[in-house]
Amino acid sequence: MVRDKGPCRARRDKPVCPHGRPLWCSKRHLDDDERLGTPLCVDCYDYLGHVLWQWHAPELWRRTTIALQRELARRCGLSVKTFARAAKVSYSKIAEFQARGLVHLHVPIRLDGPDGPDGAAPDLPIGTSDLEDAIHAAAAHAFVDTTPLSDGTVYRVRWGSQVDTRTITERAPRDTQRHARAALVHPEQVASYLAKYLTKTTTDFGLHGRVRSAAHARAMGASQHAVLILQTAQDLAGEHEDYHLLLKHLATLGFRGHPLTKSRAFSVTFGQLRRARRRWRRHPARLDPDADIREVLDDDEYVPDGFVLVSSWVFDGQGYLDLDQAAAAVEAAARARTR
Ligand SMILES: [Zn+2]
Ligand SMILES: [Zn+2]
Repeated sequence: MVRDKGPCRARRDKPVCPHGRPLWCSKRHLDDDERLGTPLCVDCYDYLGHVLWQWHAPELWRRTTIALQRELARRCGLSVKTFARAAKVSYSKIAEFQARGLVHLHVPIRLDGPDGPDGAAPDLPIGTSDLEDAIHAAAAHAFVDTTPLSDGTVYRVRWGSQVDTRTITERAPRDTQRHARAALVHPEQVASYLAKYLTKTTTDFGLHGRVRSAAHARAMGASQHAVLILQTAQDLAGEHEDYHLLLKHLATLGFRGHPLTKSRAFSVTFGQLRRARRRWRRHPARLDPDADIREVLDDDEYVPDGFVLVSSWVFDGQGYLDLDQAAAAVEAAARARTR
């Protein structure tokens, strides 16, 4: 089903940019229209600002988490140090690539007590709405100043105006529309749309596998917008030592963060999940489907009956390096037996 989005950029006065291109668009784009997310004028669009923002976004997020802690401490009337002893801010962060080629972060944030998610709730004079206010304040204050570019320009990287917070609670209905902007949202709904965002990758921009340069991206059929982003990233990397590493992140349009990250205490670790999967494949019946993964896996590595786990390795010998050697050995052994 296709949702009617309405006119794209309706403007009654039909203004044009200094390059003579329209600054309006009256089309009703379908979801798969490749013009979605691309600039009305590629010469007006700030590609340099775009690349710098994406590159510094992980640092901007890190500073936001620090600002959030400070905001929360202030609301509790505590020093940051005392607050950190009373509560832990934990989060899980998902980076979604938007049609314009910039990441958008979705972050479930939780305030745990000092012992983490399994301990008692934090004993603080604040509630969910204070946490939401603190997030808005932290997002408004956090910024990163770039190192001066060759012409001396310094960009200040910060969040845009689209900061939206909602309370995740089982009291929320499960079926509210994502765009309904409900103040409450059900955890199952959050889980399902976060999973959906994770599958949005830069293949939508025509980028596949390793991307060596903007020209390489163009040759593999990347969109003009993606190629211009990559050309800007490549030029910046060539111009400025601080941005050399951009070349290693062309496949993600200059984003160097991970698609999914989380603070330590947020949930089970990826290692625990991998061990659970490994054990399940080997011995599915042993795992209680309702067991807490962290407890199931905190015992020793599972060893099937009749086997002993040996955790030391000693070099015993080596086999034949190729088929000819192996054939010669078999022949020699056969000859020895006949003799
Ligand atoms: Zn349009
Ligand atoms: Zn223009």
